[in-house]
Amino acid sequence: MPKPRVIYWFRTDLRLHDSPALKAALDLKPECLYPIWTWDPHYVYRARVGPNRWQYLLDCQSDLSKSITKLNLKSKLLLIREAPQTLFPKLFKQWKITHLVFEKDTDAYGRERDQKVMALAKEAGVEVLVRYGRTLYDLDELVEQNNGKPTMSINQVQAAGKKIGKIPRPIAAPKSLPDPGDTGLDFEQEVPDSKPDINAKQRDGVEESYTQLAGPNGDFAVPTMEELGLKPATTQHRGGETIALKMLDDIIANEDYTATFEKPKTAPTAFEPQATTLLSPHLHFGSLSCREFYWRCQDVVDKYKGHASQPPTSLTGQLLFRDMYFGAQASLGYAFGQTYGNPQCRFIPWHLPSKIDTSSGLITGEYLIDNKQADVYFQRWREGRTGFPWIDALMRQLKHEGWIHHLGRHAVACFLTRGGCYVDWERGAEVFEEWLIDHEAACNIGNWQWLSCTAFYAQYYRCYSPIAFPQKWDKEGNFVRKFVPELDKFPQKYIYEPWKAPITDQKKWGCIIKGDGSETEVDGKRAYPKPMFDFSTQREVCIQGLKNAYRIGLHGNDAKVLDGTWRKL
Ligand code: FAD
Repeated sequence: MPKPRVIYWFRTDLRLHDSPALKAALDLKPECLYPIWTWDPHYVYRARVGPNRWQYLLDCQSDLSKSITKLNLKSKLLLIREAPQTLFPKLFKQWKITHLVFEKDTDAYGRERDQKVMALAKEAGVEVLVRYGRTLYDLDELVEQNNGKPTMSINQVQAAGKKIGKIPRPIAAPKSLPDPGDTGLDFEQEVPDSKPDINAKQRDGVEESYTQLAGPNGDFAVPTMEELGLKPATTQHRGGETIALKMLDDIIANEDYTATFEKPKTAPTAFEPQATTLLSPHLHFGSLSCREFYWRCQDVVDKYKGHASQPPTSLTGQLLFRDMYFGAQASLGYAFGQTYGNPQCRFIPWHLPSKIDTSSGLITGEYLIDNKQADVYFQRWREGRTGFPWIDALMRQLKHEGWIHHLGRHAVACFLTRGGCYVDWERGAEVFEEWLIDHEAACNIGNWQWLSCTAFYAQYYRCYSPIAFPQKWDKEGNFVRKFVPELDKFPQKYIYEPWKAPITDQKKWGCIIKGDGSETEVDGKRAYPKPMFDFSTQREVCIQGLKNAYRIGLHGNDAKVLDGTWRKL
């Protein structure tokens, strides 16, 4: 029998350690193994990806490629610039492939793409092996054990997990890798020679091919930001399995931190170093295995002499939250990503009429905040010029560094939606999608639904004050001083409410509180905007809106937009 010729398709798993799918590929004892990454237009054209996450991805790819070469001098990660749906039939034929192996992806698009690729493999007589490894549990099994329902609470994850059994221990990285086969691609000539426009987000790229499949030098190399026509990254956070494992080692070496970690007690205002692990982007790109993370923490907890924290607030508990959102998404598919059509997501008529006429089905009544006003609030929130220093500092950190602390995310998400601006959560989620280096569709969408009280969480009367909340963590306002340097001379008393400072003092401290933030200078002095609304008044408006929406009790699959009006179905 001929020996297997295998393509290993890297996607959500840019690592060599603890990869059940890679192990399955190597267990085939292949004659040759092609480690590839296909440059999927779904991400390149459609997804909003800022330069910081691009840089992180390229870091992960470069590091992985080097690690592959360390195990086999003839091998490296082959970056092939074409959509998998059109590329694979050609690769199967040209490279005489017998097996295709990859890690399971339960994202809505991931499932659709993989089904298509699996059908193509079947047609070509190629066997496909798929193993889960991106989450603690196999998500389809988790959903099945949750009575076939989306996992909407941590208790459900814990109960379903118990039925599945112990989370598997991580697998060691391989010590060697097979040779790759010949990488010639005759069909490359068929591809038109034009530069890919990665900024053309609206293009449906699936039927399109990139320019040179093997990159400009014909060597399948990892591209540079410059080659991709991207602006340089501004974040200091860098990707790659080597860095991820070193970060994990450092965390685990601190047994007290690892064993007693309690998320609600970590400071959102801490920076250099931040208060939580900052491993989320590594988990997103799969440069760190979540099971490796889980078991390294659990082993410390098991041996710890003092009082160790427990899920859901402990570090292992954080990973269960991750599985919860992944499980909800795995079950709901595309519907999970938006209100419309989503049976789990409450329908809140954000800046639309807030009362419903049940006889006609028309949702009518007073506008809480009209669309024009909501758009102004949204833009000022996005650009970090709301006039609330805590909110603006967080939004500026997010844009510049691509990461903010979990409670910082709580603060800005609550503020944009039901605790301030009354803007639809989907708009905020899109900004996070573009700027976060750890953007994970399931976690981002799920957490936005949580914070906007549309799913997972319902205590809408509990809001984060942009003044009292940060004061609890950082009386001095050092976090604000770093990210809103206009205010660095303001004393502690005014750092979260600079508009209350007397104008003579504002002048003395070199910054005038005036306008909407579109001007950076006033009378030759630096300017910082006035708050865009009175927070207490606005909070009451929001609570009233949520109260109405909860009373009406519609979900995303109960309402529909018809002729510009939401209607009850
Ligand atoms: P740690 O506290 O050290 O936790 C360890 C790991 O557990 C994290 O790396 C992460 O993988 C996981 N985790 C922790 N908290 C959560 C949570 N609430 N939900 C899901 N997973 C969690 N996380 C993302 O990974 N990607 C996102 O796109 C994302 N978007 C978010 C949007 C909003 C509005 C909010 C409120 C939270 C979002 N989170 C997201 C969850 C959470 O804020 C981050 O995972 C966490 O802050 C990452 O920092 P860390 O690695 O230091 O976390």
